[in-house]
Amino acid sequence: MIRPIPYGKQSISKDDELALVDALNSEFLTQGPKVYEFESKFADYVGSKYAVAVSNGTAALHLCTLALGVNYNSNVITTPITFAASANCVLYCGGKVHFADIDSSSGVIDIGSVIKLLESKPEGYFHGLIPVDFAGYPVNLEEFRKIADQYGLWIIEDACHAPGGFFTDSASKQQRCGNGNYADLAIFSFHPVKHIATGEGGMITTNDEQLYKKLLKLRTHGITKEPSLLEKNEGGWYYEMQELGFNYRIPDILCALGISQLKKAERGLSRRKEIARKYDEAFKGYKSIRKFENQQNLDRKGIQHAYHLYIIRIKDRLELYNHLRLNNIIAQVHYIPVYSMPYYRNNGYHDVRCIEAESYYSECLSLPIYPSLSDTEQNFVIETILNFINKKL
Ligand SMILES: *Cc1c(COP(=O)(O)O)cnc(C)c1O
Repeated sequence: MIRPIPYGKQSISKDDELALVDALNSEFLTQGPKVYEFESKFADYVGSKYAVAVSNGTAALHLCTLALGVNYNSNVITTPITFAASANCVLYCGGKVHFADIDSSSGVIDIGSVIKLLESKPEGYFHGLIPVDFAGYPVNLEEFRKIADQYGLWIIEDACHAPGGFFTDSASKQQRCGNGNYADLAIFSFHPVKHIATGEGGMITTNDEQLYKKLLKLRTHGITKEPSLLEKNEGGWYYEMQELGFNYRIPDILCALGISQLKKAERGLSRRKEIARKYDEAFKGYKSIRKFENQQNLDRKGIQHAYHLYIIRIKDRLELYNHLRLNNIIAQVHYIPVYSMPYYRNNGYHDVRCIEAESYYSECLSLPIYPSLSDTEQNFVIETILNFINKKL
């Protein structure tokens, strides 16, 4: 029996180890020069002006909703097909989250469904929008920005799945996920299943200087020592807590790992695309396996999918899942619609229905995709799936 093949996994190299040990032997364990270096290199990578590194992706989302002033009056729209944190960050601030349905051809939030929600309430009712670059598919934020401007909404792009992804806008310019050209804020996670792994870690990117400064303060208790920001100055030791913030700092040592991981991000993304292409090919012609658009189609549209996940849709999903498990392949389901979680059902969401999201959820399965997945392993995954399908025919 081969070792278990998960759906996603980190790739840690000798370079990463050395970078980590180096940082460990430096003077800094928590806030140090690696934090700033990681922020600056990450901003360069996605093409944003500013970046703020934080303790994880969920903290990044929470800081974004705080910085944008979400409170008990706020109504915010997101997708039900995402990790719970994309929606929870609104609740952390006392706001209400609303779920729009998904576009079944890409899996991301459907703009038509968003417009329908917006039109269903009086003007000024909604405050913000949290689209998710689901599975690595870059949301067309140019289109969402138009709607957002029309309705006076801010946008937080949850780009956890999509570092390196881009779409092409109406001026034929490539817009990288998290570049801050259309969204007010974007967030990333460095959880081990994501493209860049630091164990725990997250990043917020933006082009807005005001928000950037606010985030820096909120990341560390709302405290500042910056002389130009102080109300008064009673000496070199003096600092002020000006807002109610949190401790969402990321340690210097993890940023050293992040910097090292970032160097391999493009290579990792190419490998992910290669794996996806092979799955596309292998399942071509099997009617019982539904897929999202293949890479050729995406290329034609100027879209670079970041392939955090490779998802198929199949009627006998549970059976296939169990069949894969018996063969030591640990597929996964992304995601159970957020509003159907007990917490949401028990807190006012029992009547929410998103037809496309539910139909998608009943059939979806995420197959193994990560840079260190070997050809032999991928062949075994494909073979195991095709054996299952052929037995059914
Ligand atoms: C991973 C993830 C998060 C949360 O990131 P953590 O670092 O685990 O807190 C948020 N949104 C999406 C879409 C994610 O995939």
